[in-house]
Amino acid sequence: MTANEQTTVAVLGLGPMGRAIAATLVKGGNPTTVWNRTPGKDAELVGLGAVSAPDTASAIDSAAVVVAVLGDHASVHEVLDPVADRLRGKALINLTSTAPEDSRELARWAAGHGIDFLDGGIMAVPPMIGGPGASILYSGSEQIFDRFRPDLEKLGAADYFGDDPGTAALYDFALLAGMYAMFAGFFHGAAMVRSAGVTATFFAPRAVAFLTAMTGSFQSYAEMIDSGDYTQEVQPARFHKPALDAIVRASRDAGVALDIVGPIKNLIDRQIADGRAGEGLGRVTEELAGHRE
Ligand code: NDP
Repeated sequence: MTANEQTTVAVLGLGPMGRAIAATLVKGGNPTTVWNRTPGKDAELVGLGAVSAPDTASAIDSAAVVVAVLGDHASVHEVLDPVADRLRGKALINLTSTAPEDSRELARWAAGHGIDFLDGGIMAVPPMIGGPGASILYSGSEQIFDRFRPDLEKLGAADYFGDDPGTAALYDFALLAGMYAMFAGFFHGAAMVRSAGVTATFFAPRAVAFLTAMTGSFQSYAEMIDSGDYTQEVQPARFHKPALDAIVRASRDAGVALDIVGPIKNLIDRQIADGRAGEGLGRVTEELAGHRE
């Protein structure tokens, strides 16, 4: 690509995320071809200047980079298997959320067809794409990442996590696990205050302020987790035990189910039963890691 020559891109999948990605690329000057299984989702994109492809083959033929933004791993194969030969020699970037092992499987499939493969995990919702808060995590082909980095950066901050194609997805889901646990904690709190007639709307700004402040503890927890020494914690498990018991009691009194806080209390109780009452909360990581179902 020269300075004046923009990368040609095909976006396969025009759900809200695919549309946001395609729109951002078109506005960024990339000649962009779009395809979707169900017709009729590309009108706005065509209005912006995208080319609508009648099938995947013609979309792929038009582009140096093919971006898949589909429903799940199975749908990626459903769409790409029939056109594998046409993808040979092209760059395939999979932004569909897939589990790390699925991303690795897709990379092996791509390698078997002579396709250069980069996997991505999108850490944004569609309206954020192309804006300052969006970030996309990548792993797999470093060559694709380096070559098309200016295009990828149009979508959001672009971070590369190495050549294991599963790593971006691993980070993606590790972050989403934290997000869902945090949301669930907020929902639990909203249910608690509701018992006193307090609205979730009134509660939300307080939750934002407190939980944001609490993220300041991540770094010191992280240092303890990485050292494997949890004995230096000023607030060990025995400090948190009465708080969790009180949260459980207060939840019960407020008529709130224990689906969210019950398992957290159980983890602390287990740590104390193991004779580790003097060790920090971060030791829960040891309890969780290496678990096989
Ligand atoms: P949608 O579920 O709204 O869209 C899925 C797209 O995949 C549609 O275009 C759908 O086509 C297509 N599709 C699904 N199954 C098949 C199939 N078997 N064959 C052909 N096409 C298929 O998802 P989003 O656009 O919201 O998200 C796309 C990806 O981005 C997902 O992996 C999602 O996890 C990820 N993502 C989304 C975020 C979001 O906030 N939306 C945030 C971060 C990641 P059709 O219109 O024909 O049904």
